[in-house]
Amino acid sequence: MKVLVINAGSSSLKYQLIDTDTQEVQAIGICERVGTDGSFHKYGLDGNEHTDEVPMKDHNDALGLVIKALTSGPTKALDSLDEVEAVGHRVVQGGKFYPQSVLITDEVLEKIEELSTLAPLHNPPAVMGIKACKSYMPEVPMVAVFDTSFFQTLDPKTYMYPLPYELYEQHDIRKYGAHGTSHRYVSERGAAVLGLDYDKARIITLHLGNGCSASAVKNGEAVDTSMGLTPLDGLMMGTRCGAIDPAIVPFVMDLEGLSTAEMNNLMNKKSGLLGISGVSNDLRSVQEAAEAGDERAQLAIDMYANSVKKYIGIYLAVMGGADGIVFTAGIGENSAMMRAKILEGLEELGIVLDSEKNALRGGERFISQDDSPIKVMVIPTNEEYMIARDTHDIALAQ
Ligand code: ADP
Repeated sequence: MKVLVINAGSSSLKYQLIDTDTQEVQAIGICERVGTDGSFHKYGLDGNEHTDEVPMKDHNDALGLVIKALTSGPTKALDSLDEVEAVGHRVVQGGKFYPQSVLITDEVLEKIEELSTLAPLHNPPAVMGIKACKSYMPEVPMVAVFDTSFFQTLDPKTYMYPLPYELYEQHDIRKYGAHGTSHRYVSERGAAVLGLDYDKARIITLHLGNGCSASAVKNGEAVDTSMGLTPLDGLMMGTRCGAIDPAIVPFVMDLEGLSTAEMNNLMNKKSGLLGISGVSNDLRSVQEAAEAGDERAQLAIDMYANSVKKYIGIYLAVMGGADGIVFTAGIGENSAMMRAKILEGLEELGIVLDSEKNALRGGERFISQDDSPIKVMVIPTNEEYMIARDTHDIALAQ
């Protein structure tokens, strides 16, 4: 089945065309700066890549360009748009309503819009992406795949915050998590690489990209995750602070005279690796600066590693041990330095890194010593494949 996977952000639209029978990615691209000056469409597979600077006033315009690139020109992958059998949409927040991916009906679309109160930055663009696709492909089944679904298995003692209970009852204030599609994929693959049944394995998954999150997956179900009501909680990230003393928020707002929006911006856009190093949110640049002697850059790296290390400890405690630890996403897949720093000193807990294997590059692989009681793996994430797979299954069942 040919499935178009759409990941719509506030000013971007990422897509892949995936043949779910062969798992082949047949087209790929991204429209960026949608709705602003300087918008462009970057598309094409390796060796056949193109960038067009084209005005796009909204996601509808962007999708028009995507369809043109799919059906004509040097990246043509379809004779006609009719060949797209289903569309899978990444949606960040499914609230308590969607423990699984779901066929998008009018009612579901309304619910996703309503859930914008919990994810004001993320759900509105997903709705725009869905509406744009519906206008071009009204008869094609569409499926929503939520970042939060995987974490609907969390127990109340884990997802509740120790705040007045009425906030949960009246406003659904609780932990929802994010990056669930990635954690689901890499934990499934992790169990397979370990040669264990997914429903009998205990896996700690570390998704370390620009956004970073850790999860504990036990017997095929998520039992804890580091992101909370929003994707700001938990690990230190590229520009996000992760968990901090909550009292800092009103304290700094008073000190600096910041509005709610300004404080939110400070914690989401000006903190993390960028905030501490003052250099960049990109680990490669921070590392270069640290190697050149920049102390704040080194501090940012040390803090980042420490933040991930602590979550390994938390999840070992939560699950009473682990069979495997999986590193994924930009930093997790590529930074041998960061992986080594995170795992440093954990040998007595049964986590023994093999520094030679850690230095190698490649796809799915072990980086722990053969006799390490807890195995450590690098598993490249593939959220688009998961979205395509769910979309295929749900569309077939119609
Ligand atoms: P996103 O969350 O936006 O999808 P990615 O998963 O692409 O982000 O991760 C981006 C992060 O990965 C950046 O901090 C970048 O520095 C880091 N990264 C990518 N490649 C490397 C590398 N070779 N070495 C170190 N860090 C890397």
